[in-house]
Amino acid sequence: MPRHQWCDRARQALHVASLAALVSVCADTGSVIAQGRPPQVQSVRLYVFDCGVLVRGEPTNYNLTREQVGDTNFADACYLVAHPKGTLLWDVGIIPDAQIPPGGVELPVGTGGNRNKAQRTLIGQLAELGYKPADITYLAVSHSHADHVANANAYAGSTWLVQRAEREAMFSAQAQTTVAFPTYSALKNSKTVDLTGDHDVFGDGAVVIKSTPGHTPGHQSLFVKLPRTGGVLLTVSMLDPAPNSPLSVTVPHGVALDAGMGFSVGTDPMRVRPFETCNNTGCIALVTVDADTLRSLSTNMGGQVVVAVAGNTSPVTIPFSLNGFADGYAELERAKARRTSFFGFLNR
Ligand SMILES: [Zn+2]
Repeated sequence: MPRHQWCDRARQALHVASLAALVSVCADTGSVIAQGRPPQVQSVRLYVFDCGVLVRGEPTNYNLTREQVGDTNFADACYLVAHPKGTLLWDVGIIPDAQIPPGGVELPVGTGGNRNKAQRTLIGQLAELGYKPADITYLAVSHSHADHVANANAYAGSTWLVQRAEREAMFSAQAQTTVAFPTYSALKNSKTVDLTGDHDVFGDGAVVIKSTPGHTPGHQSLFVKLPRTGGVLLTVSMLDPAPNSPLSVTVPHGVALDAGMGFSVGTDPMRVRPFETCNNTGCIALVTVDADTLRSLSTNMGGQVVVAVAGNTSPVTIPFSLNGFADGYAELERAKARRTSFFGFLNR
């Protein structure tokens, strides 16, 4: 019999004089049970946690000017995906929880006046939802830079989902000298699923890790299909292979609120483009594809779009994969040749 039923029956059966004591025992037991079990969800939920801010003065490292970005700081987010079959924690912050006192902390980075700050611990934000580290089924990070792995050791008991190339880089001799290494070193002994591409986390297509190498050797992105929002994915498409034709970038609703977005491929400079229009899938910006851009698109593995996010004053960089672009572009040229010859035949 579940404990709360036992308490209810016992309450009914017992003499009034002993009731108060039993109620307090049952109430205590009830709260222990609530702490002991994570919330069970019926459908996929996505929670976004505040894991701090990278206070940065100069956006020139990202080929942007102060005027273009307005706010030069970066938001650092952590995410919890709750699925009926388990939980996935995605990215774990920039400052370890142990270094965040009540009220927050701001720590200098290097000598250029950069700082990292965090107001709230990740473990505290998880606890507010009823989760503790032992309730996290899977841990995954987008990549192993210091602003995504600060609390990784606390989740070493979860199953770690990582691209093999990233794991090998994380435990190389060079990586072991970095400031980030001690924050994730315990993952070496974690139960690990070595990935070499995309991975459907719960087997139903609702939470899919996408391999998007480029920023780091095993960078990965997360696709989450939410019951009401549906799938959210940034798309880059091209309709005409001719030089100087436009590349269409669609940024999903809820992400783009600024008048435009920044776009870059590989190490090319960031170009800021206005949104031309919005439709039911998102807002569309056009990037003119000259011969140089085409070369970059065909030879790089990744690019990035910088956009604003509702309720967040810092711009957010969304990496995208260019895996397959070269093949797709070649096919586009062949398709155009076929189309031209078809119309040529009609006009004869
Ligand atoms: Zn990074």
